[in-house]
Amino acid sequence: MISQVKRLWDMVLDILFPPSCLACTAALTGTRSELPLVCDACTQSIKVSTAYFCPACRARIPVGQPGCHPKANYVLAGATSYEIPAVQSLIWRLKFNRRTLAAGPLADIVSLFLDSIRLDISQSIIVPIPLHPSRLRDRGFNQSELIARELIKTRGGGLCTDVLRKQVATQPQSKLDQWDKRERNVRGSFIIANPELVKGRDIILLDDVWTSGATMNEAARLLKAAGAKKIIALVVAKAG
Ligand SMILES: [Zn+2]
Ligand SMILES: [Zn+2]
Repeated sequence: MISQVKRLWDMVLDILFPPSCLACTAALTGTRSELPLVCDACTQSIKVSTAYFCPACRARIPVGQPGCHPKANYVLAGATSYEIPAVQSLIWRLKFNRRTLAAGPLADIVSLFLDSIRLDISQSIIVPIPLHPSRLRDRGFNQSELIARELIKTRGGGLCTDVLRKQVATQPQSKLDQWDKRERNVRGSFIIANPELVKGRDIILLDDVWTSGATMNEAARLLKAAGAKKIIALVVAKAG
């Protein structure tokens, strides 16, 4: 009896609030998508990458091959492209529309990518790029941390949010057009709080979007100096 009432109630809810695609808001009916709460058309538009990228020259680095700039502080692993409208929309809705549910499909895009490059993160430390406390207060959550928490549920890895801290409130990088301005903007903006947590460990630095790489480079530089072994910058979307 109770299950019948619940089923009826779910039907009423579906009629009042029909589930819609988190990317394009189309009604979700009979979706077979691999991504939760994303319609088939949006899911099919999201092409998952099959290689790494060099953060210094943006060259594609096939799985198993050495990077072209071995002195770079990290290797870039971008799951998909920020040019894809459905990807942009999911990230935008998570960050600026506070649709925290969007962290689920974004983590699943990353998970599909980990399959495609055969990367096991279960023994790594996952460090989401932190927000400055004032930005965190405004937004109410750190989008990279939400994505990391969803990802860890299926892929393992140890979440570590108390090693890298943002101590200087910087301008949004998206407002600065040149690399040297972006680099100056973030230089000295992070500190390492507990270096013993990363010493000798493989680190996955996780962020939503990679654009110039200045933020990632600064974070990776500090982690390297603190004794981190290998650093992979894992991002949902690579811009440009
Ligand atoms: Zn859609
Ligand atoms: Zn290179």
